[in-house]
Amino acid sequence: MQTTLTKSAELMELENRYGAHNYHPIPVVLEKGEGVYVWDVEGKKYFDFLSAYSAVNQGHCHPRIVNAMISQAKKLTLTSRAFYNSMLGEYEKFITDYFGYDKVLPMNTGVEADETALKLARRWAYDVKKVPENKAKLVFAKGNFMGRTLGVISASNDPSSYGGFGPFMPGYELIDYNDLSALENAIKDPNTAAFVVEPIQGEAGVVVPDSGYLKGVRELCTKYNVLFVADEVQTGLCRTGKMLACDHENVKPDILILGKALSGGTMPVSAVLASNEIILTIKAGEHGSTYGGNPLACAVAIEALKVLKEEKLAENSETLGILFREEMNKLKNETDLITLVRGKGLFNAIVIKERNGKTAWDVCLKFAENGLLAKPTHGDIIRFSPPLVINKEQLMECVAIIRKTILSF
Ligand code: PLP
Repeated sequence: MQTTLTKSAELMELENRYGAHNYHPIPVVLEKGEGVYVWDVEGKKYFDFLSAYSAVNQGHCHPRIVNAMISQAKKLTLTSRAFYNSMLGEYEKFITDYFGYDKVLPMNTGVEADETALKLARRWAYDVKKVPENKAKLVFAKGNFMGRTLGVISASNDPSSYGGFGPFMPGYELIDYNDLSALENAIKDPNTAAFVVEPIQGEAGVVVPDSGYLKGVRELCTKYNVLFVADEVQTGLCRTGKMLACDHENVKPDILILGKALSGGTMPVSAVLASNEIILTIKAGEHGSTYGGNPLACAVAIEALKVLKEEKLAENSETLGILFREEMNKLKNETDLITLVRGKGLFNAIVIKERNGKTAWDVCLKFAENGLLAKPTHGDIIRFSPPLVINKEQLMECVAIIRKTILSF
């Protein structure tokens, strides 16, 4: 007898058969999104509590961003940088004013922006700091995640990122996160170009450093003439309750890396912002990308950035984040399944204790069944990062789903 598969099962099978197996998705097949909601192909509605790893801070298919995209798409989408285009200068002025940097270097994905920052840091070390040729050292914090290229996995201490892909990039040093004396020891070396760090480590499981850490990083980098490079690809753009996570300690990195929500989830748009002294060390023909700075991306990014401020998404993230952690801590007091609650703004995580062979993965499956989508990271951590357009009533509905799900275990 022939069994009929649901539409979801058919589509999952199609991906499984024809796509590489480099992801292990929660088994839902999504086809529509609006604000904080997504719908699967059977029409079931969910709260999105991942927001495409914080790319959809402005909410799914934000009408202003989608309109900006459509109207630019009808005019001009790509010229390459072989020519000037009518949107790039306007975007460059807009984003540099917005974040207070001299210049921007536009790229597409987060990892490309990270790679760009690493190249800039090395080039600055040779041209400005006068580090001897091929001696520049880059310092990273353990637990980092910057994407999947060889250049950045060389800085990873997570075997699932780097295992089986060697040999790796030389000239890197790893130190403990949230450890200022380790940082000082590492960057005393006069050949150090930069310390590259996430202000809150996202993929590591929303690891928030001690207060004062970022200020300390800024002071030490200044003291030793080392660039402070902040990877705000996931933490930036209102996710943690401020425009940038670095704003919590009022520090300004020398190189700021943005991606993800820079397009509100509509297309890959990333950016590297820095001073003239740093960014002008790379000359014409020495770095670039066919799509970087394309007019479509420029139009989309301007609108995505305007939405963040005009809809006060940092403020909403800050206020609702406090409420969310309060609710999660109440829940933690009622069950030993949750061992830790942490986060800033609407960037939060809970740590789950394995019980009767049930893990964070099983909890996430149950969340999905109950209408909320989240994904575990590192086995036992569940990150909660809803679109920042969520309101209090919706958030409390989600708290109720989380509560019901957790207490069912
Ligand atoms: N940097 C950080 C902090 C990230 O969290 C990520 C992705 O999760 C990246 C870089 C890589 O971004 P992309 O996947 O767009 O290359």
